[in-house]
Amino acid sequence: MSSIMNAPANTPVWVDTQRCKACDICVDACPAGVLSMKAEASSTLGAMISIVAPESCIGCNECELTCPDFAIYVADKKEYKFAKLTDDAKVRQEVIANNKYRLPEDYKGSN
Ligand code: SF4
Ligand code: SF4
Repeated sequence: MSSIMNAPANTPVWVDTQRCKACDICVDACPAGVLSMKAEASSTLGAMISIVAPESCIGCNECELTCPDFAIYVADKKEYKFAKLTDDAKVRQEVIANNKYRLPEDYKGSN
C-alpha cells in the first residue's frame, strides 16, 4: 500500500499528485472553496491541484467521490474535526469557479 493512503496527521484533505490529472472536477464539486488549480511548470498538464484553504474543509467527501482518478482523499470524521460551511467559504468557492478554477493570487477573503 502506498503511503499516501495513510492520513497525514491533522490534515482534512490531501492529494496523490502522481494520480491527479488536473481536470478541475473536484475544484468544481467543493462547496467550501478549499481546492484550486495552480500553475505548475513541472507538470505535463501545466497545472496541479492545490489545497488553498484546508481550515474551511467541511468533510463532505464530494472531492473524493467525484475524482475520476482516485487522487484526492478526505480524513475520517473520527480523526479530524471539520469546519462548518461559512458564507466566506461559499464566496471563495464562487470566486474560484468563476476564475477558471484558480484562486486569484490577490484574493483577500477570509475563511
Ligand atoms: S471534503 Fe468537501 S469541503 Fe473538503 S475539500 Fe472535499 S469537497 Fe471540499
Ligand atoms: S478530480 Fe482528481 S484528477 Fe481531477 S483535479 Fe481533482 S484530484 Fe485531480
